[in-house]
Amino acid sequence: MICIPIIAISHKEALRDIERSCLLADAIELRMDLIADGALPELISAVRRNSNTVRIIVTWRKKEEAAQTVESPEAGDQIKDQKDKKMAMLKQAIELGADYIDIELSEGNDAIEELKSHGAKMGSSTKIIISYHNFQRTPSLNRLKGIFNQCREFKPAVVKIVTFARKPEDNLPVLSLIPYARKHLQEIIALCMGDKGRISRVMAPLLGNFLNFATLEQGTQSAPGQLTASEMRQINKLVNGDKTSQKHQVLSRQESQPRNYILLGNPVGQSLSPLMHNTALCDLGIEGRYNAFCVYDLAAAIQGIRGMDVRGASVTIPFKSAVMEYLDDISADARNIGAVNTIINSNGRLTGVNTDWRGLLAALREAMTIKGKKFVIIGAGGTARSAAYGIIQEGGFPVIVNRTAEKGKLLAVKFNCPFYALDDIEKIEADCLINTTPVGMYPHVDKSPVDSASLAGYKYVMDVIYNPLETKLLKDARQRGCHVLPGLDMFVHQGAEQIKLWTGLDPNRALMKKTVKERLAEGE
Ligand code: NAP
Repeated sequence: MICIPIIAISHKEALRDIERSCLLADAIELRMDLIADGALPELISAVRRNSNTVRIIVTWRKKEEAAQTVESPEAGDQIKDQKDKKMAMLKQAIELGADYIDIELSEGNDAIEELKSHGAKMGSSTKIIISYHNFQRTPSLNRLKGIFNQCREFKPAVVKIVTFARKPEDNLPVLSLIPYARKHLQEIIALCMGDKGRISRVMAPLLGNFLNFATLEQGTQSAPGQLTASEMRQINKLVNGDKTSQKHQVLSRQESQPRNYILLGNPVGQSLSPLMHNTALCDLGIEGRYNAFCVYDLAAAIQGIRGMDVRGASVTIPFKSAVMEYLDDISADARNIGAVNTIINSNGRLTGVNTDWRGLLAALREAMTIKGKKFVIIGAGGTARSAAYGIIQEGGFPVIVNRTAEKGKLLAVKFNCPFYALDDIEKIEADCLINTTPVGMYPHVDKSPVDSASLAGYKYVMDVIYNPLETKLLKDARQRGCHVLPGLDMFVHQGAEQIKLWTGLDPNRALMKKTVKERLAEGE
C-alpha cells in the first residue's frame, strides 16, 4: 500500500492535496498536527467523496516525534492542552469512522487504553497503529525488538517503528523487524528516515511492510528521505510488480498494454494538444497515443471512453461545461469553476477535473508573486472563471471586465469581486492584465481586446492565446515596457498536469514547450 501524508498548512490546501492524492495512493494520512485549521469531518468526507477504497489514517504527531511541527497559535499553549486536543481529535476520528488512528507508544498506557475503550464504547471499526519514532539514530536490533514487543502488548492492528539512519547499515536491523513481525502475525511499518535510510523505503515493500509512505511531489516530505508516489511506482514496477498493492498491480497490468488518451472538442483540427501530449508520453516511455476527436454527439463520445478503455481525455470548446453531467465524479475545483477540461478513467469510473486554473497559476507564478496583487481579467467565460478561481486561491484580487455586462456581473458576484465595463477599463489600477477572450487568436492576429493606451500602468500582461506565440496585445504590452506572459506557458502547464493525473508521472515541460513553440514558429 502506498500512503501519502497530507501535511498542508491549511484546511483549504489539504482539501486540494486530498483530491490529487486519492488518484495515486491506497491510503492517506491526515496529519492533524500540521493542518492548522483542519476540520476533520470535512477532510474525511473529502477522501470518501474522492474514493471509496482509499484508507484514512488520522495522526496528531507529538512534537518530540515529528520531523515537521507547527507552533501553536495560542501562545503559552501547554503540553497538557496539546495532549487534550490530540486525544479529542483522535476520539473524533474514531467517531467519524477513520480506518486507522496513530498514537505514539510514548503517550503511555493510559492514553492508549482510553482510545481503545472509546473505540469499543462507540462500536467503532477504527484500528490502532502504535508508533515509535527516533529522529536521532537507529537503536540496536535487540532494543528495536523490545520496542516492538512493548507496542504489541496493546494488541494494535499495526506497529510502526521509524528510526533515523546515520549510516547505510542502520537499515538492516529495521528491515529485519518486518520478517520478525510477520513471524508473530503482526502487521508492521518499519522504515529508516534520512538520505541513508532511503534504501529501506525501496526494500520494505518487498519484505511485506504494511504500508509505505510517499509524497505527492518533491519538496512535500513529512519525513526526511521520503520518495514521491511516482518514484515508488517506478521502483515497484522495476523491482516486482506482483508484490505491489492492488491499485498498483492494476497500474502495472495496464502498463503492459498501450494506453490511449483523447481530445474531445469541436473543432479540433487546429489543436496542438496531440503533438504536445504525444511528445510527452513518448518521452516518458509510455506506450500509447493521444488523438483528437471532433465530437458531434457528446453522450456517445463519453460512452466510447468507458467502453474503449480510453485512460483519459482532454475536453475543449464547446464541451467544458456540458460534459459535467455525464461524469461520475467532479473535483471540487472543477465544480467551483463550472468547467471540466480533463477526464480520468479509473476502470470505467469517470472523474472530471480542471487543470486550466493550475496551468494559468503555474505560468503566473513563474513571473510574479500572486498574493496581494490585483488582476484585471478580460472575459467572463470558462477561462476567466479558472483565472478568477486560481487567483483567489493564491491570495490575489481579481477584477472582471467583460463585453457583455450581465455575464461579467454574474461572474463578479460568484467570486465576490468588482466588475467594470470594457469601456471603463482605464479607470482600474492593477498589477496585471489577463486576456481570456479569443480576440487576437489566429487568423485575426491584428486584433487586440484593448487599446495599447489602456496598458499604461500594468507591470505584467498575460494572454491565454498561444497561437500566435505573441499576440497583438502582448506586442503592444512589450512596447510599453510591460513584462509579457504568453499563453504557451499556460498551455504547457495545463497539459502537463493532465499527464500527471493520468499517469502519475511528471512530464518534461521544457520539451513540451519547445515542441509546440517550434511548430507555431513554422507557421509565422
Ligand atoms: P468562452 O467560455 O467562450 O469565453 C469567451 C469570453 O470572451 C466571453 O466572455 C466573451 O464575452 C469574450 N469575447 C469573445 N469574443 C469577444 C470579442 N470580440 N470582444 C470582446 N470579448 C469577447 O471561451 P473560453 O473557454 O474561456 O476560452 C477563451 C480563450 O482562452 C480561447 O481563445 C481559448 O483558446 C483560450 N484558452 C487557452 C488555454 C491555454 O492553455 N493557453 C486554455 C484554455 C483556453 P461575452 O461574454 O461578451 O460573450
